[in-house]
Amino acid sequence: MKLHEYQAKEVLAKYGVPVNEGQVADTVDEAVAIARRIGRPVMIKAQVMMGGRGKAGGVKFSKDVDAARENAQNILGKVLKNEQNPKGEKVKRVLVADAADIAKEFYLGAAVDRGTHSIVVMGSAEGGVEIEQVARENPDAIIKVYVDPRMGLQDYQARELAFGMKLGEYLPEFTKMAKALVKVLIEHDGSLVEINPLVLTTGNKLLAIDAKMDMDDNAMFRQPWAEELRDPAAEEESERQARAAGISFVQLDGDIGCMVNGAGLAMATMDTIKEYGGSPANFLDIGGGAREDKVEAALRIILSDPNVKSVMFNIFGGITRGDVVANGIVKVLNNMKPGVP
Ligand code: GDP
Ligand code: MG
Repeated sequence: MKLHEYQAKEVLAKYGVPVNEGQVADTVDEAVAIARRIGRPVMIKAQVMMGGRGKAGGVKFSKDVDAARENAQNILGKVLKNEQNPKGEKVKRVLVADAADIAKEFYLGAAVDRGTHSIVVMGSAEGGVEIEQVARENPDAIIKVYVDPRMGLQDYQARELAFGMKLGEYLPEFTKMAKALVKVLIEHDGSLVEINPLVLTTGNKLLAIDAKMDMDDNAMFRQPWAEELRDPAAEEESERQARAAGISFVQLDGDIGCMVNGAGLAMATMDTIKEYGGSPANFLDIGGGAREDKVEAALRIILSDPNVKSVMFNIFGGITRGDVVANGIVKVLNNMKPGVP
């Protein structure tokens, strides 16, 4: 589960990471009131899940309250798009944040690294731009240290990062921040926690002005507080319905709907479709021993996707009974009369 910038910043702030003050607004009037209260130039920042909001026009510097009003008017309700997100995402909420006076931008992130069974912490003096781009074009500009999750980030590792990022002068503050970042990742079952940019202000303070956080969905049972942060608006409607029905479902962008039981069989089915030149519209696993109602819910979810031109069933009659699945299908066919084979 991904958190919005303002939510990730709240979590980081709780762990002692300095962030620029801010508050979210759903309306222009609210945004104006917050800007007035802050009483300094503010940033109006779209709270959407897609990255690269700045380039898409979703992050605007506002020198005074009037500029904040104008920027909030322009950003709220706008559909932000960029190359990675051609479909775009509608802005329902903005963060109004105290605008930092930036001397230099850095990158600092922590992620689960399956390959080394550890947490990789990455830092770079090339902040602000997407780290993937730095990794491609200038991989040496990224300093990586590998952290044992039982130990947390060690002082020597923080030093390695700080000096590599040319932040040696700010070692004590940096160390505190990097340790907190790793602690946040570990204690929230995060798969990624990222500060980009981490900035050095003109007043020589380190400050997180953008944050990203992704939590492992499989660990949500022990992070019940996070359920409150779940933003249903940011989820695909079909994925929300599937979660409610207890079905494993991932929306994809092909046109062949798939209903399968068992994750392995579902993936093999998608591979087979690809192998023969088709493109799956979804991954869907109805699970073992699914009953009629679940089959019905699954089929409704698949058919609600306007891209679906046909539906493929691949049900292994083991724990799941073939006749039960067939009855579910017949029920939907009778009720919905779908126009696809
Ligand atoms: P992103 O585009 O979604 O990553 O959004 P960011 O919050 O990272 O903002 C993009 C860029 O806008 C940053 O790299 C900064 O250059 C600029 N920016 C964001 N917040 C501030 C701020 O508080 N002050 C100033 N001067 N620039 C900012
Ligand atoms: Mg950013």
